[in-house]
Amino acid sequence: MILAGKTAFVTGASRGIGAAIAVGLAENGADLVISDLPQQAADLDKVLGRITATGRTGRILHLDVTDKAAIEAAVAEVGQIDILVNNAGILIPKRLEDLDEKTWDAHFNVNAKGVLLVSNAVLPQMRARKAGRIINIASIAARQGVPTQGHYAATKAVDLTLTRVYAQETGMDGITVNAICPGIILTEMGKENLGSQAAMDHWSNVAALKRLGDPDDIVGPAVFFASDMSRFVTGQALNVCGGIYFH
Ligand code: NAP
Repeated sequence: MILAGKTAFVTGASRGIGAAIAVGLAENGADLVISDLPQQAADLDKVLGRITATGRTGRILHLDVTDKAAIEAAVAEVGQIDILVNNAGILIPKRLEDLDEKTWDAHFNVNAKGVLLVSNAVLPQMRARKAGRIINIASIAARQGVPTQGHYAATKAVDLTLTRVYAQETGMDGITVNAICPGIILTEMGKENLGSQAAMDHWSNVAALKRLGDPDDIVGPAVFFASDMSRFVTGQALNVCGGIYFH
């Protein structure tokens, strides 16, 4: 129970990686605030059930991470947040030459600006307590750049830069900021992106561990960054990809 007494806030937590992290943090002792878009209310309820089954408390927010006013109001209302996981994200694959401005803007709004808005809403209370953990869910796409994911990879590269700069701007107040770069994780986003069994087989074979990721594979690294075990680690990004990418 290394997170006992802590409250964690996970965005985009109705399914996939966000849901796994939220339940994993609860299993390690944290109480949870989970949020997602209003249309994900039913799935969010199911995740809340999994959190309360661990014996921890959970609270739901229907929140768009691009809505600054709503984020600030929600954060003010929920009170103490010790751990923030910026997980909400979108991926609509398109070649750069086929990309329209609306798709570009949507990715930067959710994947990049969302991290800024939610972090800035939570940081004042973390600074006041001289403690806090922020974990940004980036992607190995940010490191490598992937065909049909140029815009997405660019947003995730922004997340890595935000991670490094926030770390330097908040470390004096006892706050650490780190990123996780998942590889190919079999969530709705991951499966949609792969598209076919042949692609799944190909990437499983490329991976050193000869399989693709499960959302639960991200939990251990998230608990590490959320806990005191990582107290001297900040501004870093960890690839969690089964050995698909090595830099
Ligand atoms: P997912 O299954 O699609 O879940 C993402 C969640 O974020 C969805 O519930 C989505 O809701 C929500 N969301 C989207 N826009 C939002 C907004 N404006 N405000 C609040 N919530 C919003 O994706 P996932 O695979 O679990 O991915 C989670 C994170 O990991 C993302 O940041 C993703 O980029 C990253 N990642 C995933 C993989 C992978 O292979 N799966 C690899 C590397 C990184 P809607 O469905 O209603 O849009």
